[in-house]
This record gives sequence, C-alpha cells and structure tokens, in this order.
Amino acid sequence: MDRLWESQPTVTLTDAGAAALARRHPWVFSRAVAVVAGDPGVGGTVELRRPDGVAVGWGAFSPASQIRARAWSFDPADRVDGGFLRNRVARAVGARSALLADPERGGCRLVNAESDGLPGVVVDRYGAWLVCQLLSAGAERWRGELVSALAEVVPCAGVYERSDADVRSKEGLEPRVGTAWGSDPPELVEIREHGLRFLVDVRGGHKTGFYLDQVSNRRRLADRCAGAEVLNCFAYTGAFSVAALAAGAARVTEVESSAAALGLGRAHTALNGLDGARLEQVEGNAFAVLRGFRDRGRTFDLVVLDPPKFADSRARLDGACRGYKDVNLLAFKLLRPGGLLFTFSCSGLVSAELFQKVVAGAALDADRDAQVVERLGQAEDHPTLLSFPEGTYLKGLVCRVL
Ligand code: SAH
Repeated sequence: MDRLWESQPTVTLTDAGAAALARRHPWVFSRAVAVVAGDPGVGGTVELRRPDGVAVGWGAFSPASQIRARAWSFDPADRVDGGFLRNRVARAVGARSALLADPERGGCRLVNAESDGLPGVVVDRYGAWLVCQLLSAGAERWRGELVSALAEVVPCAGVYERSDADVRSKEGLEPRVGTAWGSDPPELVEIREHGLRFLVDVRGGHKTGFYLDQVSNRRRLADRCAGAEVLNCFAYTGAFSVAALAAGAARVTEVESSAAALGLGRAHTALNGLDGARLEQVEGNAFAVLRGFRDRGRTFDLVVLDPPKFADSRARLDGACRGYKDVNLLAFKLLRPGGLLFTFSCSGLVSAELFQKVVAGAALDADRDAQVVERLGQAEDHPTLLSFPEGTYLKGLVCRVL
C-alpha cells in the first residue's frame, strides 16, 4: 500500500449501513458506522467501505452530527474535488435551464442539496443574485470551491451566503451571513413570478428570502379564487395574497406574526397595482386570531394555511400534529359551505398520509364533511431523489367543504 492510500480516512459501515448506501441513500447515521480509520476532521472526505472492506463511495465526515457522513458519490472511482463539485453544480443548473431562461421566473432554486447530489448545499437565484446556504460540514469544507463553481457556472452579479439556518448547529457549525463573491445585493431584490412582482429580502428574510417551494401552488390558488373572500394565514410577505388579488379575489385577509413581513406584503400590493383596500392585514398569532374570527362568526370562501415547520425532530412530532390539527380545525369552522381549504405542512417528518389523517381529524372535530380535490407538493425546481424520500417535505391538500 502506498502512503497516499494509508492516509485516506475511511469509514467502514455496518451491514445495515452498507445496505442503505447500496440503495443510494446519501445519509450514513452514526449507528451505521462500524469503524473510522484515519482522521477526516470536520467535513473531510472519507472513503465509504462495506464491512468486507470493498469501497462503495465517498462521503463528507461530520463528527458532531447524528448524520455522521453524507455521500458525495456512490462510485469509488470518483474523486471529490473542485472539478467534481463544479460538475454537480453544472448538472443541477443545466436541469433548470428552461426556468432560468424564463423572464417571468426571477426566482428559482438552482441546487436542492442531497437531491442534486450536493448534500447540505442549497442555492436560490433571485434576479442577478445567487443566495446560498451551506448547511453541512462537507458543504462548509468545500465552501471556496462551491462558491467559485457557482460564480463560474451561473452568470450573476454576486453570491450572498445565508448559512444561518438552525440545522447548522447540529453539524457543529457557526452561522455565517454575507457576500461570498461579487457585489453586495441591494436591500431588496425584485423578482417576477407568474407576471407578478415581488421584493425579496435576501439579507434578512426567512430562509434565502422567499418561499420558492410554493411557486406552483400560488398558481393553483390563483386558478380557484376569482370573486372569493380569502383568508391567508401564515402569510409571510403575502405572495399567496398577491396571487389571489391579481386573480380577482374580492378580498384577502392575511394573518402573520412578523410585522416586517407584513410591511413587505403591503408594498407588494402597490408594486403590482392592486387595490390596497382589498387587503386586510392582521398582525398576530394565527391560532388566537382564528379563534377570534370563529367567536365573532366571520366566514370565508377560501382559507390558506401555510404554517412554519412545526416538527423539527421526532420528539416534537406529536406536538406538531396537535398544532396542525388545531389550526385546521379552526379553518374548517371558518369556511362557508362549498369553500376551499388550501392546507400545507412543510415538516418532512409528517408524511403525506399522516398529514391527511390529521386534516381528516380536524374536519371531524369541526363537524364538517370535506373532500380532497387536489394534492399539492413542492415546486419542480425542488426535486427529490427517488432514493431519498426525506427530500419531499412540502405537502398540501385542497379540500372542499360540503
Ligand atoms: N405562505 C408564505 C410562507 C409562509 S412561511 C409564502 O408563500 O410566502 C410561515 C410564516 O408563518 C412565516 O412568515 C412566519 O413568520 C409566520 N408565523 C409563524 N408562526 C406564526 C403564528 N403563530 N401566527 C402567525 N404567523 C406565524
């Protein structure tokens, strides 16, 4: 054996770990690790081996995380370096070329982490700027190469980093925010979506600034809301509200706890030439506000529920389901007969089946009969690897109350 080979850190998997990797699941949990040889450090590249010593791929080592390694590649003949990462970035961006060329689509997810073969790497494009989140130890280790690859592959004015998501702490990483390449983005970046204009706060907004995963669902809402009185709960900067008003909704009431988000929402009505008098904004806790509406007998033709992730760990799953049930129950109480509920969950731990059960329980307790008329999911630029079902996190039901 030559010295290079000896110095290559390796992770030998258990039988179960090797079986998961053979199914091309990219996560190696701590319990699936039999032996770590060498010193990969934080985010270092490890050769992944079966229990019999045969090499089966490459991973990024993360000593602090329960996900001890994330697979970069399932091919031992690959070499993980700047060129390899650049190819992955180019493949992800190439798959979105039609979206990138569409002037009506100023916002687009370019890299969707594990599902694009780049674990922990999220990149969204807003107009001339790219906003990245490096969420895993491996992504952090290759930060320089990834940022250079992005700047090289996508013509852009700058790459802004928003690595301030909570999941970074699970990897033992500090948050990092700022311009990573090129020029600083303006305070607000304007994008277009389905012919509408939106302002994205890439520096201080949620996630990378905008909920691109809901793009196609905002279109589905627009298709169904002409003349309707709409209640948009957990509205953020009002993207669903603007879509509804532009599509002819009679009136939209939005409920949101963040005053800053509501401020941008108000700006969005003016920016799109919509009648601000048709938008009512309520700042507050949606649970309390909806209870108040129920007590006062207010009703709506259409309700949107797009709450934040209630379940971020298995321990919180029961509590999350109670939260989804409570808010859906209130929504069913507020709907007129024939009305529609657009209800979402972005908790990956809540399966589509479980979510439907919870919504069904809510309807039952609200004493309403309802049908599922459509099932919704995350936008097409948020694809999920078939071998990585965890990548499917957003699910939605359109229910009609009878
Ligand atoms: N539908 C939005 C995204 C919603 S994200 C869009 O398409 O852009 C969830 C939003 O819920 C966030 O803006 C968050 O500030 C808000 N929020 C969280 N908890 C809340 C609560 N208890 N009451 C009201 N709003 C809440």
